Amino acid sequence: MEQTLRDRYEVVIGLEVHAQLLTHTKAYSSDLNAYGSAPNTNVSAITLGHPGTLPVMNRKTIDFAIRLGLACGCQIAPAQHFARKNYFYPDLPKGYQITQDTTPICTGGQILIRTEDGAQKSIGITRIHMEEDAGKSIHDVDVYDTLVDLNRAGTPLLEIVSEPDLRSSTEAYNYLTEVRKLLRYLDICDGNMEEGSMRCDANVSVRLVGAKDFGTKVEVKNMNSIRNVQRAIEFEITRQIEALENGEPLTQETRAFDALKGITISMRTKEAANDYRYFPEPDLPPITVSTAQIAEIAKDMPALPNALFERYTKTYGLSAYDAYNITDQKGLALYYEELIGATKNYKAAANWLMGDIKSYLNEQGVDISAFPIAATRVAALIELIDQGKISNSIAAQRLFPALFESSETPLEIAERLNLIQSSDSTVIESFIATVIDQNPDEVSRYRSGEKQLIGFFMGQLMKVSGGKADPKAANGLLRQKLES
Ligand code: ADP
Ligand code: MG
Repeated sequence: MEQTLRDRYEVVIGLEVHAQLLTHTKAYSSDLNAYGSAPNTNVSAITLGHPGTLPVMNRKTIDFAIRLGLACGCQIAPAQHFARKNYFYPDLPKGYQITQDTTPICTGGQILIRTEDGAQKSIGITRIHMEEDAGKSIHDVDVYDTLVDLNRAGTPLLEIVSEPDLRSSTEAYNYLTEVRKLLRYLDICDGNMEEGSMRCDANVSVRLVGAKDFGTKVEVKNMNSIRNVQRAIEFEITRQIEALENGEPLTQETRAFDALKGITISMRTKEAANDYRYFPEPDLPPITVSTAQIAEIAKDMPALPNALFERYTKTYGLSAYDAYNITDQKGLALYYEELIGATKNYKAAANWLMGDIKSYLNEQGVDISAFPIAATRVAALIELIDQGKISNSIAAQRLFPALFESSETPLEIAERLNLIQSSDSTVIESFIATVIDQNPDEVSRYRSGEKQLIGFFMGQLMKVSGGKADPKAANGLLRQKLES
């Protein structure tokens, strides 16, 4: 589509994210909440909603919801109740979903994202509420029949609904990245969209720039990665603008994304929408949340990415780039925290983490959690460099790889491998004597005024000493000898 046409429209996006919680048991029963069990093994009469069974609220679900609410600056509702959302579906054996309709546990609050030009933008959170997942209908395993696995039925979910504050598919991408980061930092959801433990419905509309009212929105489902959410939104933007330009009215509908074709397909229109007949859930007592309970949870909150970013850039003087990349993954941030617990050279710690350590992880195709070297040993290596005992390049080329091969301290390894650089002047003087002997022409050129040759002599000195002459000490001595 032509950019000039596209520029006449403003895009409006609001996202609904479902996060499966990492609780041990299900939302309203003691059935295991586990991914990958044999089909229909984590299923009791309660999950099936058999007559006479009673649900019991899992306290962990409430704690997790409060954690997320606090992280987003939401208000936490002191009194809440659950509702039944009634509908028929083969993977919903109860015939209804227990959800929070009129009293979501969290309201208000925001998530900070980066916009395309790198600025910060606050995206409003309308509500976060607790509910349960349905089971899974499997259409592609049996040739003739649809199979139903009810292990997932009753899994606790948080639904996070954003305000229609997002203005591009990139902003939506960045928002989801931040949501996933938060869920992972808080340890409440693994954020894995491929496995469906984090899912997103994207509400998309367009309007002429300057228009007062929002356009008709379309809800898009069925994206199994953040990238695919972005692709689906891009397709919708073009489709909607083209329809409007052709004078075709848009209808409020739900569409499904086809990742192979990169298109969205209509599933149902507003007129065909279910009437869920919500009513208060009679089998679960209302929930109250006390300020003491909130304070208790607040006390145990981990450091969150934005706070770490502030500390890394403001207190430790890291570049925004480094700070962003370190806090991007919780594991990296945790490792960095360990590093700076053991060395005050914050910048060097960041350089080692984002340089040699990250390269190692990339080469091995593993996560920082699988990195075998304790942060204290990397800190000790940094210490050796700072003390002038070993050069940066020898540390990277020889000492760092050797850390993987032995459990000795970096100092012990450096001594064993004879890597300690000498600031002992008699040792350095003998290296200098060799260099002067070997390069008579350069020596006379230096002495007749070509002072820039000092770089050449330092290079020769490092070669002769095997990188072990402390450059600071050597530089002074070398000049002395050359001038004399
Ligand atoms: P519904 O009842 O259809 O689920 P809601 O008003 O609850 O609609 O909004 C659901 C989501 O859609 C929210 O994330 C909201 O921000 C977003 N939304 C609402 N109106 C629009 C619009 N015109 N364009 C894009 N997103 C919208
Ligand atoms: Mg909706």
